[in-house]
Amino acid sequence: MSFDLQQPTIERASLKMLAIGAHPDDVEIGAAALLTKMREHGHGVHVLVLTDDPVNSTTRRAEARAAAAEMGIPSDRVIFAGIQDGRLRADTDSVSLVRQLTRQLDLQPDVVVTHTQADSHNDHVEANRIAHAAFRDCVFLHYSIHVSSEISHFKPAIFINVSPDRLWVKDRALESYHSQVSRIGRHDLTKYEEKLGKLARLDRAEGFEIFLQYGADDTIRKTIGLSDSPFHRFWLPTVTEDTVTLLYELHSGWDSPETFMHRNIARDKLRQAFINQWLPYPLREQHSNTDEALAVTRSGSIVTVGGPQANPVARECQNVSTLVWTVEGGGVSSSARYLQNQKVGTRLYSSSPGNVRDLGYIARFENPFANGAHVVSVAGITDFAERAGVEFLTDPSRSPDLARIFDEHPYAQVVYSADADGLRIIDVQLPVTLANGGGGGYDGEDALGACHEPRLWDSCV
Ligand SMILES: [Zn+2]
Repeated sequence: MSFDLQQPTIERASLKMLAIGAHPDDVEIGAAALLTKMREHGHGVHVLVLTDDPVNSTTRRAEARAAAAEMGIPSDRVIFAGIQDGRLRADTDSVSLVRQLTRQLDLQPDVVVTHTQADSHNDHVEANRIAHAAFRDCVFLHYSIHVSSEISHFKPAIFINVSPDRLWVKDRALESYHSQVSRIGRHDLTKYEEKLGKLARLDRAEGFEIFLQYGADDTIRKTIGLSDSPFHRFWLPTVTEDTVTLLYELHSGWDSPETFMHRNIARDKLRQAFINQWLPYPLREQHSNTDEALAVTRSGSIVTVGGPQANPVARECQNVSTLVWTVEGGGVSSSARYLQNQKVGTRLYSSSPGNVRDLGYIARFENPFANGAHVVSVAGITDFAERAGVEFLTDPSRSPDLARIFDEHPYAQVVYSADADGLRIIDVQLPVTLANGGGGGYDGEDALGACHEPRLWDSCV
């Protein structure tokens, strides 16, 4: 599977990026696909090479300029600090030199790309320290060099797809280093990129740790917007104002220990996914029947878990006919619950008692109570189905067909059946655009019906 789709347009504003390598070729090995993507999106990129090979510095500087040109970076944007190879130290002199070089170019980067500390090469580690000392108000992306990577400590969160077209550019850039061809280890690099890709369920990827300095709040969202990982692509449009609030389902009198287990596991996974992959941590949590839940529903993006019987906010969304599918029925036995299509009345039941088919829905739609915000709504007719739906939110790439639907259609409502392998699509509802005369309903019908004025906590009559 491979995700190589358009980025959300809201992330298109220009960034100023400085990519720092201890040696010529480091930046190309660790971040060529990122720099290529930056150029594709019209962001400004400079490259700074910190050290020179004392024997053939002229050759290697020329190779570095040629490699940058392959990535669309003009030669006047490639700068050299000229420190001796193997002697890099994060001391006052080197930090001052870097500041002086960038000041001469009037370059104040928003994003600094540099080596990870999880590296066994001293020059690489020192380059990381110099970069952090030299700049302020920045987001940092740390890349790794496969031959010296300390993979157990490298914790990438942002992933750039090394798609065939970017690989072509990367190959050309690396081939510019004629003097280093035998040293770069292309076969190993391929295997390394495949290993990084597996972390984000991409065929092949560059991975980057992300660090946030004080004052870089405006840049962090655009930087996350560069990521090709399905998790970031799903959540980027929904995490508005840096937050999204998870609104729990209510407890019912017949909740079993298994119910609590499934809910806890799903919530833990969602928290962990954001801890690992998002800055600043955006997830807030509330019970859905509180005044606080009401306030956050009116002010930002939310995730509701549970159908209209189990979650008052989901019920309000259904009341304004935003939700096409809902969970109905129930009581003690989950096999008595079913999914109902509110437009046409279709019901989907478990196949038979004792052989419960784990059906659920995931819907993403505009928050009818807060402009510019989203609702992600998940519910299942069984605890397992509901957990599987929330787990999709933690790792959309587990079900690539479903991830692709939400990637291509910000507002989709999908019914799934869940098993251990992931989610299988049963039904897809897509909103009808105004151009089709649908008035914002779903699938050609005016789903708003008689209730045009959303009123929170009131039923429409
Ligand atoms: Zn190096």
